[in-house]
Amino acid sequence: MPLAATVARVDVPADPRAGWGLPAPGSLPPLAELEPLVTRVLAPNPSPMTLDGTNTYVVGDPGSGQAVVVDPGPDDAAHLDAVEAALSARGARCVAVLVTHHHGDHAEAALPWGRRFGAPVAAASAAVAGPGGRLLEPGERLRLAGTSVDVVPTPGHTADHLAFRLESGAVLVGDHVLGRGTSVVTHPEGDVVAYLESLRRVHDLGPAALYCGHGPELTEDPLAVLDFYLAHRAYREHQLLAALEHGAATVEELVAVVYAEVPRSLWPYAAQSTRATLAKLRAEGRVAPGPGEAVRLT
Ligand SMILES: [Zn+2]
Repeated sequence: MPLAATVARVDVPADPRAGWGLPAPGSLPPLAELEPLVTRVLAPNPSPMTLDGTNTYVVGDPGSGQAVVVDPGPDDAAHLDAVEAALSARGARCVAVLVTHHHGDHAEAALPWGRRFGAPVAAASAAVAGPGGRLLEPGERLRLAGTSVDVVPTPGHTADHLAFRLESGAVLVGDHVLGRGTSVVTHPEGDVVAYLESLRRVHDLGPAALYCGHGPELTEDPLAVLDFYLAHRAYREHQLLAALEHGAATVEELVAVVYAEVPRSLWPYAAQSTRATLAKLRAEGRVAPGPGEAVRLT
């Protein structure tokens, strides 16, 4: 069957952020007050995957004397100093540590800093929250630090991923949406179908801004970014189907075709996203196991 008959044509989606004048990679300020409720502290762990580094958010009503720390990030002394300085500048003590997901670049400092602050750790996974911690329920509303924080389930990047919606309408999205580029659906833990549902769930909130786990805050048109993420996933799936149609059969062959324009250092992550998309296509009955490690179109 010709490709056109099996795969709807999908254009390369345009990234709406290209025209927004966002800070260049590596130039995110180490400290930024994003709105009265939120200060962002940049962790010193830049890399191709963490972009400028992990964004740690200090959130609270400025008059409350309290704040929550969201995604403390790496357990790094200089980063702890910077977060404590941000708390002091707000005249706030930390009353809870919230974590979007279990990856170390977000969660490593959660338990040690929680102990230091005398504050519980709250997350979707028991391993992150620790023995004295709090397991967060999808959809619950936390009343903390003079404000409210809605717990938004956003599985996909990982199974335990949460986003946090603030009273201002801004959403802390962790690794669900990045300030630059697109996110990885990990494999085998991640789930492309869940990821797409989570993108639509955040879209339906009509976020006033997206405060990402890495990279700049997205304030100009958050819905356009979420639309782009959905279109990007559809485009990658289309490319994968086209590559299979043209004879690529193993994950390595598919990555070499579909991610040809992506630096090779990122191909291990591209392979995870590819395996995750193949799992979705297998579940839909559109691909089947081939000989050995190969897959084929059905
Ligand atoms: Zn992550």
